[in-house]
Amino acid sequence: MAHAYTDDPSMTWIPVHKTRKPCPICGHPDFCSVNARWVLCTRVQSHRPTANGGWLHDRPDSTEPLPAPLSGTAPLAPLAQRDRVYRLLWQVLPLSSAHQRYLTERGIESVAPYRTNPDGDRAAIARAVARVEDVSGVPGFHLSHGFMVWGGRPGILIPVRDVEGRIQAVQVRADGAVAKDDRYRWVTSAHQGGASPGTPVHVLNTHYPHQRVWLTEGVLKATYAGQLLHEPWIAVAGISNVAPAFETLKQLEARTVVVAFDMDGGTNDMVRLGTQRLVAQLLHYGYRVVQATWPVVHKGIDDCLMARVRPQLRNIPSPSALIFPTH
Ligand SMILES: [Zn+2]
Repeated sequence: MAHAYTDDPSMTWIPVHKTRKPCPICGHPDFCSVNARWVLCTRVQSHRPTANGGWLHDRPDSTEPLPAPLSGTAPLAPLAQRDRVYRLLWQVLPLSSAHQRYLTERGIESVAPYRTNPDGDRAAIARAVARVEDVSGVPGFHLSHGFMVWGGRPGILIPVRDVEGRIQAVQVRADGAVAKDDRYRWVTSAHQGGASPGTPVHVLNTHYPHQRVWLTEGVLKATYAGQLLHEPWIAVAGISNVAPAFETLKQLEARTVVVAFDMDGGTNDMVRLGTQRLVAQLLHYGYRVVQATWPVVHKGIDDCLMARVRPQLRNIPSPSALIFPTH
């Protein structure tokens, strides 16, 4: 076990991406670790395999001192690679009946796109994927004590797809007693020195004409709404995180954008200011803007549609024309 060597502080494992040098054994820039004496290589075998994957090698350059570890995050893998890795991960992970039930009760017609992030051994999951695909720079995969693991809280894994349906990132809806505004999280490796997914948008219904596109916050909300309103939808991660939507609007060649954010702008400054800023930007870029509103008793567009209430659509020539109902 490699852990036996970590008692001596000079034997602390440093991920190679934090040393400015590739792994001295395999030459790759990530997922291997070094300490003063050893290299834990995740790619090249030795006669000293470790319990959780990887092999110990004598450090060939052990006369050189180790550099002080760099801080910060690793580069994000290209989209095509992330998509391949996440699709493979999806083959490995189950969807629990409790999560199926939650999604069905929420009105999601197809539960097939979702997975369960389990409690327990994440090293086995990482190994199953990394055997086939290169997981370097794919958010969610990171080294823990020198061993590769798949991270994220236990909960429902939600794929976040681009205009072509590729999985560009993964969110988790955390199980258990989590504060409401903390329930949805990006699966990231940024806190472990790995890659961050950024805040990409989720795009759906792109097989419908693109002239008009709906914009809201939250993947599941957009998914439910998109089942009833057959137009393309873009879900941003938050009202203060709308920048990634602009690239997608350009890709879709949209002309009109329907903004359909939660009806708490009358009481929530952040929503009101965020919506005003977003609309000012949309107008600046030449989009026609339409605001969707509904009675505030139905908070989100999904609640509104679930109650069979038709949202009202209003043309917005300037941000001052936005309305934020309080009842
Ligand atoms: Zn290596």
